[in-house]
Amino acid sequence: MDQKALRPTPRAGVMDIAPYVPGKSHATGGVKLHKLSSNETPLGPSPKALEALRSIEKLELYPDGSANELRDAIAEVHGLNAGRIICGSGSDEVLSLIAYAYLGPGDEAIYSQHGFLVYNIAIKAAGATPVIAPEKDLTTDVDAILARVNENTKMVFIANPNNPTGTYLPFDEVKRLHAGLPPQCMLVLDAAYAEYVRRNDYEAGIELASRAENVIMTRTFSKVYGLAALRVGWGYGPAHVIEALNRIRGPFNMNSGAISAGAAAVRDQAFIEAAVEHNSTWLHWVSEKISALGLKVIPSVGNFVLIEFPETAGKTAAEADVFLQKRGCVLRQVVSYGLPNCLRMSIGSAEANKAVVEGLSAFLNETD
Ligand SMILES: *Cc1c(COP(=O)(O)O)cnc(C)c1O
Repeated sequence: MDQKALRPTPRAGVMDIAPYVPGKSHATGGVKLHKLSSNETPLGPSPKALEALRSIEKLELYPDGSANELRDAIAEVHGLNAGRIICGSGSDEVLSLIAYAYLGPGDEAIYSQHGFLVYNIAIKAAGATPVIAPEKDLTTDVDAILARVNENTKMVFIANPNNPTGTYLPFDEVKRLHAGLPPQCMLVLDAAYAEYVRRNDYEAGIELASRAENVIMTRTFSKVYGLAALRVGWGYGPAHVIEALNRIRGPFNMNSGAISAGAAAVRDQAFIEAAVEHNSTWLHWVSEKISALGLKVIPSVGNFVLIEFPETAGKTAAEADVFLQKRGCVLRQVVSYGLPNCLRMSIGSAEANKAVVEGLSAFLNETD
């Protein structure tokens, strides 16, 4: 008798999910480490967030299951209705809740070719079928998505800006996408990098999520807010969607530290402006310097850049990754995103950015 028949088995599809591999956090040698593999901020969180975290007491008590302090702070800063906000243990949790609440076997959900891999996991975990829309110039292609919509399509996930490409869709394009979707299909706008974008034609998703019945925007405190370790994310959408998500989330999905530190962080917008300024300066510098070395840098509006390497032996992305790691610079290989010739680099401190540019220069000039 087959032993496997005698033990519990996961639902169909679960074991087809490719495990998510986080960015590496170790360099190879004893050299100083610059972790540029997960788009974390080099500036850390607001000191006010740290202070709020340190003042957490009474760990024996359950946290506020509604995360009121955090939802109120987000609502106040962004001018939103707190009743239409849901908080999650990272926006990953919010994305999963959306998939679990609205997708099931037989349903299809679309995301784009080089889109964030958490969508694939969430869709399959919900038992639904992922449908991948090709991109144009490493950018989400609205027409390609609309061409894949059929009566089974229940959801479309867009990361705007997208990770790992760094490209974005102007608001007109997002509106055109929304206008082309059937009203029963949910549009999920993942705006994890919204704070970094300095483009007049960009809108994170607040406007559509405010007025449409089928749009939800997700945001995170893991990037510019520097609270990745605490796991703080949120979603903003129609009241009926938030109500459904609240029914399936864990009743205490947010811990007290995440609630208080998140609230203090979002109220400290001066800190965020300085962090965005640091990023703009160094994004520009890094993009220029690396392009000048002869590598293609995909124009990015986020806090990271995608760098394309040649296929020539000795000069490939995988070899550059090993070379840079020996110098303490840990970037991200993006083979799993269908980009085997690229590395993704988070914008780091001045020292880290300079170390990567010097490292790449040495790598490209290496002869043997
Ligand atoms: C980093 C990132 C997130 C944030 O995930 P958290 O769970 O909030 O840490 C979400 N979407 C994209 C596209 C990201 O790159």
